[in-house]
Amino acid sequence: MRIPPRFKRFAVHGISLLGPPACPACGRPAGKHALSIICPDCKPAFTNRPVCSRCGCFLEQSPMLEMQEVKECRTCRHKQLHFDLARSLAPYQDTWKKAILAFKVRPGGELLKQIVNMCRRFISTGRIPGNWQAMVPVPARRTGMRHAADQLGGKLAERLQLPYEPILRFNRRTRAQRGLNRQARLQNRSHTMAVAYPKVSGRNVLVIDDVITTGATVNECARVLKNAGAAQVGILTLAQSEDYFKFRR
Ligand SMILES: [Zn+2]
Ligand SMILES: [Zn+2]
Repeated sequence: MRIPPRFKRFAVHGISLLGPPACPACGRPAGKHALSIICPDCKPAFTNRPVCSRCGCFLEQSPMLEMQEVKECRTCRHKQLHFDLARSLAPYQDTWKKAILAFKVRPGGELLKQIVNMCRRFISTGRIPGNWQAMVPVPARRTGMRHAADQLGGKLAERLQLPYEPILRFNRRTRAQRGLNRQARLQNRSHTMAVAYPKVSGRNVLVIDDVITTGATVNECARVLKNAGAAQVGILTLAQSEDYFKFRR
């Protein structure tokens, strides 16, 4: 597959097959005997940071910083959230943002393996608490192409030995989210999703996506999954954008 020139500089992620394990965030060698696959430079982005236990937003900017966790943050308390909880591995910035952009261009190979390992560790150490029984990817807008969330979800489900259920579909043509303001994004995403076939009844479902932006898409995923009978819906994303839940009601 041809890599667009603007992504060539991320090609460093591809060479890790040849040498010692590479840090999935920056692509530099993480060292053969490193305890973690994240290199020391990137580690601060992934350390346990204070989050809202409901929406999973990072609380660095909050006056509640001294607490490790708040039950519901000021932002999500009054919103109609359909998911039970959401978590992101790290903020969508710096080297991690570059890694995710590279992953979206070529969601496979060593980088996929590394990212799956990170997610597996994140789940197994209880950072998205719950007894997850099925994994569902956020669907691609266009059919006929496997996108990053699908690749990630499939591999992660396999590693965790969970059933993989790519059952969500956009049920009408939706405009691309890019370039829309937050309100327009919300409207664009409301009632646009459907469960292709119900396989989640009574089960705790973990929804997978690469980046959480406003949260509108995953909230819609959760809504239809709950309507299809899902018991609990959790959202796991690789990264969280600064826009997350910054919109006004
Ligand atoms: Zn690194
Ligand atoms: Zn919150």
